[in-house]
Amino acid sequence: MATMITSECINCGACEPECPNNAISQEEEIYVIDPLLCTECVGFHDFEACAAVCPVDCCVTDPNNIETEEALIGRAHTIHADTNFGETFESRFRKGEKKPDASPAPKSLPTKEADQLTSDSATSNPSAPSGSAPQGEQSALPLSGEMFSLAPLALPDSQEWEIVVHCFKCGENYTVSVKRFMIGNVLFCPHCFKSMVVKDNLNFEIQTTLKEVYKSWEEKLANLQTKRNQDIRNFQRKLNKELQDLDAERQRVIQGLKDQLKGITESYKAPGRPAKKRALFGWG
Ligand code: SF4
Ligand code: SF4
Repeated sequence: MATMITSECINCGACEPECPNNAISQEEEIYVIDPLLCTECVGFHDFEACAAVCPVDCCVTDPNNIETEEALIGRAHTIHADTNFGETFESRFRKGEKKPDASPAPKSLPTKEADQLTSDSATSNPSAPSGSAPQGEQSALPLSGEMFSLAPLALPDSQEWEIVVHCFKCGENYTVSVKRFMIGNVLFCPHCFKSMVVKDNLNFEIQTTLKEVYKSWEEKLANLQTKRNQDIRNFQRKLNKELQDLDAERQRVIQGLKDQLKGITESYKAPGRPAKKRALFGWG
């Protein structure tokens, strides 16, 4: 057994029905956990269900009886012989860890996406040479600002944050997925095993902070996108005008060249070409 109930138990009974292994029972003064049945909820939850509901925070990890995940899932298999827990079973040892089919990894604004942004911008850079001359009536450039996406500058998924928790007992820090900060959840310090219950004010503060920062950032991105699209349209109009002028000049060059070539063939003295007879005395 690695979960135990301390003498602070107030005998409320809230934990007993939560145990997937029926490991909790009432004794004379407090509830107790049968060490041969407790699996720390491994196989069922990524948290200890009894600790999650205990109002006085007295279901705690027994520091004198630490068990491995392997031993605990082995016990779950023994107790629930008909249950297939699969390879990615729930476990508090992998709290907040993604399952294979879970959503993609959190985006941290860092290098990879910043590089991508740079590379996207480089390939779409309107100031780069267009590479080919205008063709007939074809429009030189599309009047669209959509080629510049600010998506890589979005914040990471709000539910993928890892929050640093400072343990008030041992003073160490540890990180916990934001998804674990639900009201009633119990967080455990991995250094001293002290538990901490998430109350409604903590949940509220975290969710409100996330919401406000995300809203503000999304507004900033939206404004920037609007301004950028306008700048791009203006710039593309200027480029289009330059290209139209160049195209008009091309038409003049083509016509001039056509006339020049025609002049060359007209003045060419080809062998056998009948020469104009000249009058004997210079007239006629
Ligand atoms: S940790 Fe889970 S398995 Fe153990 S007593 Fe509590 S509810 Fe039951
Ligand atoms: S929920 Fe907590 S206080 Fe209530 S019986 Fe269980 S251990 Fe005791």
